[in-house]
Amino acid sequence: MSTTSNRWVAGHVAALPRSGIRDFFELVAKMKGQDVISLGVGEPDFVTPWHVRKAAITALEEGKTYYTSNLGMPELRRAVATYVTEHFGVNYRPEDQIIITVGVSEALDLAFRAFCNPGDKVMYHQPCYVSYHPSISLVHAEGVAVPTYAKDNFALTAEALRAAWVPGCKILMLNLPCNPTGGTCDRTQLEAIAAFCREKDLLVLSDEIYSELTFDGTHTSIASLPGMQDRTIFLHGFSKAFAMTGWRIGYACGPEVLIDAMMKVHQYSMMCASIIAQEAALEALNNGWDDVCEMRDQYHRRRDLIVRRFNEIGLTCHSPRGSFYAFPSTQGIGMTEKEFAIGLLKEQKVAVIPGTAFGVNGTGHVRACFATGYEQLVIACDRMEKFVQGAKK
Ligand code: PLP
Repeated sequence: MSTTSNRWVAGHVAALPRSGIRDFFELVAKMKGQDVISLGVGEPDFVTPWHVRKAAITALEEGKTYYTSNLGMPELRRAVATYVTEHFGVNYRPEDQIIITVGVSEALDLAFRAFCNPGDKVMYHQPCYVSYHPSISLVHAEGVAVPTYAKDNFALTAEALRAAWVPGCKILMLNLPCNPTGGTCDRTQLEAIAAFCREKDLLVLSDEIYSELTFDGTHTSIASLPGMQDRTIFLHGFSKAFAMTGWRIGYACGPEVLIDAMMKVHQYSMMCASIIAQEAALEALNNGWDDVCEMRDQYHRRRDLIVRRFNEIGLTCHSPRGSFYAFPSTQGIGMTEKEFAIGLLKEQKVAVIPGTAFGVNGTGHVRACFATGYEQLVIACDRMEKFVQGAKK
């Protein structure tokens, strides 16, 4: 145990709460070797497709071991521009409207650092991805949580935004489809949100990392709606759709003045994303769509299974329209989210995350990630059923 005190740690960092997910993983780690099925980690169970790995190996063999342009390799930015036009109907110039980042995580960090003054308010829908609120606190801005509800399939509504809005709100953080709820918005709902953003002059940070994992209906990007491209930073990456979490590669697209502000922070911090990851990402965008469709089909099948089983067991679960998360309620079986998650782990060795890890609006729910093999998922569902039946006795 080190004797160094924490007097050198910055106050706002010391004040950051521990991630609820991390706490839970520590519990899971203690059960190593006990046949735990984890539905906890939000990560594809697939390995990055071989041709993508091969592209990285080839790049190394060719001696590509240097820095790239701060904005990222021009060929990759061109491929991103083509992809975003074809899939989202939004045109960005590769020269100055796209920046390649170290995952969506870095793009988010750059955006908060580039756009938030101390005291600025950032609205975000909640339950939400665990990093948003801490990232906002780290730049001395304030988070304004906007609740989403199971009764709306966790879609964000313009009414909820209006009710939560306070003077000083400058940014809306959107994540559709959403981690942890799988909720998303259809075009009409998104149009109402866009109108609200224009009315209140909000900048939108749109994290669309799960857009390729949309199972029902089509995904619409808010950036594609009239009057929105000029006030939106579109954030995307390779981690989820291409099973590339460990490569740490993503990007942001937006108006050149805003990308330039993000670039200023990036050039003095990260400088550029790894060239090896950029080469792999280029191969993924150019030749990886069959892999994406195959993986999406498998997630779709698993989603249908887990949602059906949750509802049969008595854990009311809406059908997530996208992502690889189900977010059932534990209220119907008379348990809090923590009682369910801890009891299930201890008695039946299945790990799910208590919904409160994603903010107070996650109370009464747990997150189960179905990026786990179908057979494993069947066993996990059987174990959950046993646990619930046991608890009823
Ligand atoms: N945004 C959301 C909503 C996520 O769920 C995650 C990872 O779980 C990230 C961003 C981070 O993505 P990346 O691996 O590209 O940094």
